[in-house]
Amino acid sequence: MKAMVLEAPNSLALRQVERPAPGAADVLVRVSNTGICGTDQSIYYGGIPVSYPLIMGHEAVGEIVAGEAAPGLAHGSRVIIDPVYFCGQCYQCRAGQTNLCPNGGLVGRDRDGGFAEYVTVPAANVYPLPAEVTDQAAPLIQVLTTCLHAHRLAGIFPGEAVAIIGLGVTGQLHVQLAKARGADPVIGITRSEWKRKLAAELGADVTAAPGDDAAKVIRDATDGRGADLVIECASRVRVLALAMTLARIGGRVLAYSTYTEKQGELPFYDWYFKELQIINARAAKSEDYPACIDLVRRGQVRLEPLISHTLPFQKLDEALALLTGGDASRHMKVILDHAA
Ligand SMILES: [Zn+2]
Ligand SMILES: [Zn+2]
Repeated sequence: MKAMVLEAPNSLALRQVERPAPGAADVLVRVSNTGICGTDQSIYYGGIPVSYPLIMGHEAVGEIVAGEAAPGLAHGSRVIIDPVYFCGQCYQCRAGQTNLCPNGGLVGRDRDGGFAEYVTVPAANVYPLPAEVTDQAAPLIQVLTTCLHAHRLAGIFPGEAVAIIGLGVTGQLHVQLAKARGADPVIGITRSEWKRKLAAELGADVTAAPGDDAAKVIRDATDGRGADLVIECASRVRVLALAMTLARIGGRVLAYSTYTEKQGELPFYDWYFKELQIINARAAKSEDYPACIDLVRRGQVRLEPLISHTLPFQKLDEALALLTGGDASRHMKVILDHAA
């Protein structure tokens, strides 16, 4: 089969490799579409250690073509892959924290992933896609599961004021999820005007640029008290610091991003004085897949408006370069088409 193989940091090549054979507990999926994100970019540049050669790709959809799938999932079924696998035996797994299993891993990082014609995954890691969800948009469901997992931990109560800083793909998903969970108002904050416009189309009640303007907009929208929950989606310690200043006294901050910075300044006195809860979230659990598929099927979360580019999967290099283009490249979600 054809695969985009990462042979060393910054070295990707289209190769002819052997089609993977599914193990006893695996299914073989013919990939139709994949999504790329910052994790792929970090693996590509060598920021995340992996063993080479590696086929990346953890946001994948396709069709089951071999292996013993779950009951009701025949060969030919369209499925989304849950890339998080876990042992089921360790303390965390038995405590229901399968997303934190120290013996587990991620398809596309710790074993070969979806940037290929075929991929094998554990049979328990595929979920059927309803007709309402297109193959092209479905890779975004994997991203949505990580947002929903975070929302479960943050526990939004209907009517709470939720501010989201950073309106890339995950920020736009958090805007829609916050609305779906009854937040009001939902306030979207970013420097980028076109991202603010998109967030407004997707349900944000108010949008603002960062800086004093954002603080004032939030005060005005919340009778002067500040946001009950601020979700940080910009992967910067200084934005986490901003989130802590924008949360109300007694409020919460969801540190959704992955931070690669080793140091930075945080308003520690605010943290104490406001009795802020800082909530962390990592990956997602099995329970998030059926729930997210249903949110998309019912139209409560719209994925199509988030797709900015679609490229053939052989152009993975080009797709990764789009992500580094900054706001000027006007990228949102980049989807790879495996049939093109
Ligand atoms: Zn991803
Ligand atoms: Zn485990």
